[in-house]
Amino acid sequence: MFNYPDISEPIFRLAQEAEDALQPAFQRIEQISEANQYKVLQSFIKNKVSESDFFASSGYGYNELGREKLEQVYADIFHTEDALVRPQITCGTHALYLALSAVLLPGDEILFITGKPYDSLEKSIGITDSPGSLKEHQITWKIAELRNGAEFDFDAIRSQITDRTKVVYIQRSKGYAARASLSSESIGEAIRYVRSIRENLITVVDNCYGEFVDLTEPTDHGADLCVGSLIKNPGGGLAPIGGYIAGRKDLIERCAFRLTAPGLGKEVGGSLGVLKSFYQGLSLAPSVTASALKSASFAAALFERLGFCASPSSREVHHCIVETITLKDPELVNRFCQAIQSASYVDSHVTPVGYDMPGYSDPVIMASGAFISGSSIEVSADGPLRDPYYVFFQGGLTYEHGKYALMKAAESVCSNLSEMPL
Ligand SMILES: *Cc1c(COP(=O)(O)O)cnc(C)c1O
Repeated sequence: MFNYPDISEPIFRLAQEAEDALQPAFQRIEQISEANQYKVLQSFIKNKVSESDFFASSGYGYNELGREKLEQVYADIFHTEDALVRPQITCGTHALYLALSAVLLPGDEILFITGKPYDSLEKSIGITDSPGSLKEHQITWKIAELRNGAEFDFDAIRSQITDRTKVVYIQRSKGYAARASLSSESIGEAIRYVRSIRENLITVVDNCYGEFVDLTEPTDHGADLCVGSLIKNPGGGLAPIGGYIAGRKDLIERCAFRLTAPGLGKEVGGSLGVLKSFYQGLSLAPSVTASALKSASFAAALFERLGFCASPSSREVHHCIVETITLKDPELVNRFCQAIQSASYVDSHVTPVGYDMPGYSDPVIMASGAFISGSSIEVSADGPLRDPYYVFFQGGLTYEHGKYALMKAAESVCSNLSEMPL
């Protein structure tokens, strides 16, 4: 075993213990990765991806074959009629707002059935007033919370669906909330229930952080649209920007008309040379997601051994790549994030500090020493500086990097703490 010169004996020992205990979990993660790798490769083969598909187009990009083929590859992976995969979709929030604003019309209502959506969407929806919000376009919303932060509340869902409800929205990952992430299967159960209430309800899934974590995607269980960011799982760490929406053909057309203009839709939008990184990133995505999942499991197993509470615990199956550790002390959140930053490939010499971010009521500290700005499929950590002082860890293009960064974090969190079980 490699002996890290800058990791102390006690932390190294706990790390080895943690890793040994995780072998069955790692095996499960590898089996899922293997199946997803096969699925991705088969879709490349079926669509005859060629070197000529990587050429850079500009301007309108009419008839850009590589772009059209990539969208077919995504549609095949998600088992959907169509997909929209573009560098012009700048991030996950943009992809989600695009999907919702394309599908919803004035007077329609959206029902969130996994509690309040991810923070960055509050202005998109109008939960916080903003120009251009769905609210400004006379689109209203309702929220059904998860029961015990972990299960769909079917009675609450039924009672909140009205004649005006058009979209039922499901967020697969916990994001940065104190709730569980959901399996594709349980999302399928909710979709079937919603359909039994009214056949024509449109189900939209925020799939961020969930791609390739399970054997299936929510679209395999009936979701009408699945939406995500390419600087998370499906970009495999190589896509420099982008988002995707996969789903029903008529809805994808609406999304494309909304992204460009009615009548233009998918026909325009030169890819400016990013296609090769989209394809290659996608080819790596199942394995990269597995590395991130192993890193998250290792975070749980190591910090549990240090006496902290981790969610999911090291004995639970992960349904997204995020690991929550309750540090209970703002100083420990700072130390954790600073140690993760110091073990990054980029900007390791920078010290992150908490700051007031737009949309958050408390200061937030973020460690992100990533090659691609803001990419959280790379090793990263963040935490709002408020009780109970959670830190959220995610990413790891390689497990080895995730493991090392987490040992450094453990080292830093434990320094000067007399009550640690070392
Ligand atoms: C990351 C994320 C988003 C979108 O975030 P961007 O930073 O805009 O890409 C939305 N929902 C969840 C659950 C996420 O993890």
